Amino acid sequence: MLSSPVAYLKGVGPQRAELLQKELNIFTFNDLLHHFPFRHIDKTKLTPIGNISPRDEYVQVAGILAPLETAGEKRGRRLVSLLQDKTGTLDLVWFQSINLIKKIIQPGQPYLVYGRVSFFMGKPQMVHPEMEPWDPEKIKGKDFLEPIYPSTEKLKSKYLGGRQISKLTSVLLQHLSEKDIPENLPPSMLEELKLMPRFQAYQNIHFPKNTTAYEGAVRRLKFEEIFFAQLRLNLVRLERHRFSKGVVFEKVGDLFNRFYNQHLPFELTNAQKKVLKEIRVDTGRGKQMNRLLQGDVGSGKTIVALLSMLLAADNGYQSVLMAPTEILARQHFQGIKELLEPLPAEVAILTGTTKGKERKRILEKLAAGEITILIGTHAVIEDPVQFHNLGLVIIDEQHRFGVAQRARLWEKATLPPHVLVMTATPIPRTLAMTAYGDLDYSVIDELPPGRKPVQTVHRYENDRSLVMDFLKAEIALGRQVYIIFPLIEESEKLDYENLMEGYDVVKTYFPEPQYWISMVHGKMPVHQKDENMRRFVVHDTQIMVATTVIEVGVNVPNASVMLIESAEKFGLSQLHQLRGRVGRGAEKSYCILLTGKKLGNEARERMKIMTSTGNGFVIAEKDLELRGPGDIEGTRQSGILSFKLADIVNDRVMVNTAKELCERILKEDPDLSQPGHEMMRNFLHSQKGKTAWSKIS
Ligand code: ADP
Ligand code: MG
Repeated sequence: MLSSPVAYLKGVGPQRAELLQKELNIFTFNDLLHHFPFRHIDKTKLTPIGNISPRDEYVQVAGILAPLETAGEKRGRRLVSLLQDKTGTLDLVWFQSINLIKKIIQPGQPYLVYGRVSFFMGKPQMVHPEMEPWDPEKIKGKDFLEPIYPSTEKLKSKYLGGRQISKLTSVLLQHLSEKDIPENLPPSMLEELKLMPRFQAYQNIHFPKNTTAYEGAVRRLKFEEIFFAQLRLNLVRLERHRFSKGVVFEKVGDLFNRFYNQHLPFELTNAQKKVLKEIRVDTGRGKQMNRLLQGDVGSGKTIVALLSMLLAADNGYQSVLMAPTEILARQHFQGIKELLEPLPAEVAILTGTTKGKERKRILEKLAAGEITILIGTHAVIEDPVQFHNLGLVIIDEQHRFGVAQRARLWEKATLPPHVLVMTATPIPRTLAMTAYGDLDYSVIDELPPGRKPVQTVHRYENDRSLVMDFLKAEIALGRQVYIIFPLIEESEKLDYENLMEGYDVVKTYFPEPQYWISMVHGKMPVHQKDENMRRFVVHDTQIMVATTVIEVGVNVPNASVMLIESAEKFGLSQLHQLRGRVGRGAEKSYCILLTGKKLGNEARERMKIMTSTGNGFVIAEKDLELRGPGDIEGTRQSGILSFKLADIVNDRVMVNTAKELCERILKEDPDLSQPGHEMMRNFLHSQKGKTAWSKIS
């Protein structure tokens, strides 16, 4: 029933069906059922026309329709009329489907009119209003809310506005019975959580008797949405634990031990040891590992990655480490190559700029198994790259890698390689576990010892010369500084100009030859970027002027000052990432947030948070509160945030309830075969193909 084409619904027909498809993606009865109203209006509540004010957005009025007149010529041609009640008149205007409208509506009759008002020459008007004949007797004493559906200008002009869609939905609901919308949650759960039955919820989200009924319906359907998303992700993880086959890293061998005992430049923190152990256990079971490693900036994820790769090598497998940018890949390469110098393990780098002979040579050696560790950008997952026996894939700063890209890795090996995804807290912990419910989770929640917290201050533009004096003093002590300019993605050109202007200003404060400046930005050719970066790394230059391209990963321990220009233009997690570039060496480090004098409340709040905490988890939570869910890096691709009704932030409590419940259920009944659970399983089956996750397990 629900899969029937919408054209079969009474009152639709082929033409309207086509419009519904094109404009609203409504193809079937089911799509129409899930086209939820964005508001309800009380039909008995009317605004007197004389009371309409410019502050009103949508209003409902009733009155007598005046005669219709055509005005204007050609493209300006329009149909105009007036609606009059006891208190005033409202202008009505139509630009499209003039002939159709002339045929349908009748001047002199009472109409109920709904729409967005605007003011034109001091008078209220409504363009393409939604209209229906008005009969006050018919609705008298009735207690009901009328749904208003999202529609489009085009549909409205074809007489398929929100009101008409409401009629169609009402027809649809009359045709549906409980067996078309079967319950998918067991009665015990409905009772425990006080949830409305499913069929009833669909009725009430569209046509509620009152607000309470509506809210109950929304709550039920939101819960269902969250719960099944959780269930699906958890099942993927469980199935991997139970049935997947993975390469086995059964022993800790020579490479690992030699490195660990003789060449490790520092003692691992307990958190690093704990995570390493989790990885060991996970990769030794014969199941595929799929693990998310979260750890604040500077918490030392790279060494964990390296040790894991040595573990793979000891068991005869190749590894690949993927970084989001060329710069970062190069830095990883240099760092790791140096660390592994004394060991017989070949490390290579492959990026988009590796070309010609060099590329060919690397590809051949990879296929022959002569390269143990490959480091690169996403170029490494491109088709021609064949491994001899890939056993471990590490994805650094994963929020830049999509799910689809991860899936492509599977094609590179006969047995799926283990996967470790590393990220520096772009999302709060609970949220991460929700959004990545299909992954196992590790966290490094401790910074290496001796790290001095970065002192963070907020300064205004008019303190610029004092700030620059401070930078000079630090440079005089032999340190290096970053000066970062914002990147406003909408306009690359503007960004570039901003940066150049900024660079000139910096130059006036820091003239050559006393000072040398490196500059790096997104539009620069890679070799130049690399060269400028290299000069900063080897301390040829004292100052690095850059846009956020250096945001992630870059490691120059001698740098002690991070100056962020127009800091108000950055988001919290970005500021935190940038700040993480300093405080990596032994010296005391500083982060200076430079802003204009006039700051919005939210920007002020961000500066306050930055100066008061250095904890990435806290910052991520705050970031979420300030920005809302629409924009959390790292969760967008995971797909779980694309809920229709639920909102992972505002419905956090519900998310947690659903999560706990899922875990409880799956622990007892991982196959969902117990009585009362089949309905869940059946529902998941009926949804099959809806999720890309099945490809990943
Ligand atoms: P991130 O987690 O941000 O990727 P990195 O792996 O780049 O952090 O590590 C940051 C810095 O801390 C590096 O210079 C690294 O050598 C150093 N480091 C990592 N672990 C330790 C440790 N246990 N003790 C001391 N320094 C460490
Ligand atoms: Mg890192």
